[in-house]
Amino acid sequence: MKKIAVLTSGGDAPGMNAAFRAVVRKSIYEGIEVYGVYQGYQGLVNDNIKKLELGDVGDIIQRGGTKLYSARCPEFIEPDVRQEGIDNLKKRGIDSLVVIGGDGSYRGAQRLNEEGIKTIGVPGTIDNDINGTDFTIGFDTALNTVVDAVDRIRDTATSHERTFIIEVMGRDAGDLALWAGVAGGAETILIPEASSDIKSVAERIETGMNRGKKHSIIIVAEGVMSASECGGELRKYINVDTRESVLGHMQRGGKPTGNDRVLASRLGAYAVELLLEGVSGHAVGIENNSLSKTSFDKVFEEHHKIDEGLFRLSKELSI
Ligand code: ATP
Repeated sequence: MKKIAVLTSGGDAPGMNAAFRAVVRKSIYEGIEVYGVYQGYQGLVNDNIKKLELGDVGDIIQRGGTKLYSARCPEFIEPDVRQEGIDNLKKRGIDSLVVIGGDGSYRGAQRLNEEGIKTIGVPGTIDNDINGTDFTIGFDTALNTVVDAVDRIRDTATSHERTFIIEVMGRDAGDLALWAGVAGGAETILIPEASSDIKSVAERIETGMNRGKKHSIIIVAEGVMSASECGGELRKYINVDTRESVLGHMQRGGKPTGNDRVLASRLGAYAVELLLEGVSGHAVGIENNSLSKTSFDKVFEEHHKIDEGLFRLSKELSI
């Protein structure tokens, strides 16, 4: 009988539990033994692996975080270290592994696939920065968390006639800042994929103030600069009362939205289906609302791109 293991790795994301549940339930439905690897690749190396039953994934579809825990394991780039993990799977007769995580986690999965464990990647990250899928699990929840925060900040920004600078997650990817900026009606969105001209931002704020605008909201992705740096840069050009807000790890928590739960359920089950069909070395995704698979090689071919049309629209709507 085929045996499958599943782990979550890298930064946690709301919906990882729903994906984990789908992998376990779909496997059991198909008559496959399924194992949970706790604490990501670290747990794989440390042999923290447990056989799972239906009840092990009960009452988790609505929970944020990951019941399997996540960990960073920098040593996993070493072939000897990976071999320990492979041995731990093989001694149980497990030949396949579903990795729920971001692109770093996919790199580990790609290596394992080359080294004899069949792997499928499931995109679990709030960053929405993975090629081969229109949306990653956790993005929609994080987006709604940020939009909620922006709405609250907007209330106080208006009351006090202030410029608020809101720093959101996104070291290399601006999707969260861009989508939250559009949904929250931000005047300015600063993302790593586009150059940031603070002088022109300052000029636009000044023009707005001169025509009686009561507040201004700037959303800056952490990869561009910090909120306080952004405030400092702005004050070089205009005399403006700014307040900075760093949303931080609250963006990673909370119960997953309905969209994230459905996405996670579809992708987790699809990962198992592909393994049953003999496909491995691929990541699953959703493209044009259809399930899709992309080889890890193709996923890594180029950096994820933002939606240029949406970025243009954000500027058109914030004049
Ligand atoms: P997020 O995007 O949310 O940060 P991620 O999956 O990209 O998630 P990383 O910390 O980059 O998070 O990677 C998770 C783990 O994947 C690492 O701790 C390491 O164990 C493994 N990993 C990353 N890169 C490689 C690599 N080149 N070879 C083998 N394993 C890797």
